[in-house]
Amino acid sequence: MRATVMYAAGDVRVETVPDARLTEATDVLVTVTRAAICGSDLWPYKSMEPSETGRRMGHEFIGVVEEVGVDVRTMKAGDLVISPFLWSDGTCVFCREGLQPSCLHGGRYGADGVDGGQGEAVRVPQADGTLVVLPVERDDALMPSLLALTDVMATGHHAALGANVGRGKAVAVVGDGAVGLCGVLAASRLGAEQIIMLGRHPERIAIAREFGATDVVSERGDEAIERVRELTDGLGVDSALECVGLEQSTVTALRSVRPGGAVGRVGVPQEDSIPEGESTFFDNVTIGGGPAPARAYMEELLRDVLDGRIEPGRVFDRVGYLDDVPDGYRAMNDREAIKVMIEL
Ligand SMILES: [Zn+2]
Repeated sequence: MRATVMYAAGDVRVETVPDARLTEATDVLVTVTRAAICGSDLWPYKSMEPSETGRRMGHEFIGVVEEVGVDVRTMKAGDLVISPFLWSDGTCVFCREGLQPSCLHGGRYGADGVDGGQGEAVRVPQADGTLVVLPVERDDALMPSLLALTDVMATGHHAALGANVGRGKAVAVVGDGAVGLCGVLAASRLGAEQIIMLGRHPERIAIAREFGATDVVSERGDEAIERVRELTDGLGVDSALECVGLEQSTVTALRSVRPGGAVGRVGVPQEDSIPEGESTFFDNVTIGGGPAPARAYMEELLRDVLDGRIEPGRVFDRVGYLDDVPDGYRAMNDREAIKVMIEL
């Protein structure tokens, strides 16, 4: 089969790899129908050390069940299924708490003998705990929004929950990538009254407005923090969503909140330490976030997509085929595209 392999920074190839096949009784073999490139795929794209064997890529996909292991109970061949960006058993102590990223028997796609999502097929471990059967056909018009539930919409929702977003709150969203935009949508869905989007790219701002942003701050650094304060009577926001992971964006989020506020961090941190330790301590700022338990949020967000209440698929502004994946990485890295959907 063909799949995406990254060999070094800037070196992504689509090539022939061993066919995906069942190995455990709890596995399902999925033929991928839609996949996506993630903002987090761009971190290795910027910095990966050259590797002889390469690294299989992709963790966002929807597909058709081809074959099920003998212990799989909740799906059958022919079912259309969606996967969260991590696989998990659904039964361990952390899964039962809705913290699937910490599953005792779970893991990542594209690692330890598990296929990546940017390819023709994937062996999904712990299928009963991981996959959700979709009640639509494989080419349904909702496909982009469903695909967004595998990661970016769940991650935006997680940022909002980590930042204690709720009815009537003032929120700042740092990061205008797909996750930041979904963070705006999530904050709006949770009833935030004021949603300040930090960004300067006109097309991204337009989507943020559609998703519920009430204000836009195009300044950066200290000036951005100043503008957020001006927009909130000098106090700062109740909730800040950090959707980038760099030091400057983290500082902006931490310094935009008012005393007693909360920051939800979902950008994969590119620094070892969290800045603003002293100021956030004395302001009683809560710092939450982490990798989203996308599986825990799947049913709730799926219902809203199926009912047409949210359309997170708006973040996909480019569609390609498997051979277009390398150019998709380039386009997202150059900020020419917000997010790329791959049709198989
Ligand atoms: Zn588990």
